[in-house]
Amino acid sequence: MDSDSRPLRELPKAHLHLHFTGSMRHATLLELAERDGIRLPDQLVSEWPPQLSAADEKGWFRFQRLYDVARSVLRTEGDVRRLVLEAAEDDVADGGGWLEIQVDPSGYAARFGGITAFTDLVLDAVRSASEQTGLAMAVVIAANRTRHPLDARTLARLAGQYAGRGVVGFGLSNDERRGSTSDFAGAFRIAERAGLRLVPHGGELRGPEHIATCLDALHAQRLGHGVRSAEDPALLDRIVSAGVALEVCPVSNVALGVYSDLSSVPLPTLLEAGATVALGADDPLLFGSRLLGQYAAMRAAHDLADDQLAELARMSVRASSAPDDVRTRLLAGIDQWLARP
Ligand SMILES: [Zn+2]
Repeated sequence: MDSDSRPLRELPKAHLHLHFTGSMRHATLLELAERDGIRLPDQLVSEWPPQLSAADEKGWFRFQRLYDVARSVLRTEGDVRRLVLEAAEDDVADGGGWLEIQVDPSGYAARFGGITAFTDLVLDAVRSASEQTGLAMAVVIAANRTRHPLDARTLARLAGQYAGRGVVGFGLSNDERRGSTSDFAGAFRIAERAGLRLVPHGGELRGPEHIATCLDALHAQRLGHGVRSAEDPALLDRIVSAGVALEVCPVSNVALGVYSDLSSVPLPTLLEAGATVALGADDPLLFGSRLLGQYAAMRAAHDLADDQLAELARMSVRASSAPDDVRTRLLAGIDQWLARP
């Protein structure tokens, strides 16, 4: 066998950037929409996966509108359980051994009896899915930066109550260009005191100056995306020495128009600087590519050798909140993968 063609599907990986709604299988979206007589926009049916480009705010608005449609098909407890189980099955099929699924409970509160009831449901679904598939999993609660910072505080308190009981992190999502990041510092202090890992989105739709704000005001320990730190060597140095990991989602970056193509995603710059990078799928439902797709895309676009791909997988494990037994098992599996002839 060529020494740089080991099957990526069999490389153990940790998945740190996957949104709850965006993890839905396309076939499941179609089936649930049909069940409930929901008419889907052509972009989610005949034109799927949609052409998005969020380079302008109109583009992001289109992305958000499709997201809202996808959210609207999840109507029953069974739908939530099915989504989580299928996300777990898909990660297992892609070689995933640990998944942190990110959810904003406020988007589902009205339909499922409030943010606490919904969080309980998601956590229970995660436990069942984990038992059924063997995938170790945890939840990241994410606040929405287009909502009021007081809502984020409420979510941070909620997340803190579940620290050590299935919730491992606290994030901040939605359009990076909206809202003022430092207004969310209070919420992040609450999450920090609860011992949660702080994982806001930053450095995708905005550049280095916003990443610095995420570090200074939110004390980010891992950045959702953070890929645009490649534009500022001094900032990148700071990220490397602080041990802040980057959840890089290449297919998402290109779909949203952040980079024109996969070979323009500056992964080599990040790796050469010594950054910790964990590849993630973000929203497979809208971008048409899951966990394995990210590794395959970067191997093809940047001619990555198998030892580099193994190191990417190791970094995803090191940057995760996985318990020690899972980390040890996955790291050993990665070594075994690389030791094959
Ligand atoms: Zn994201």
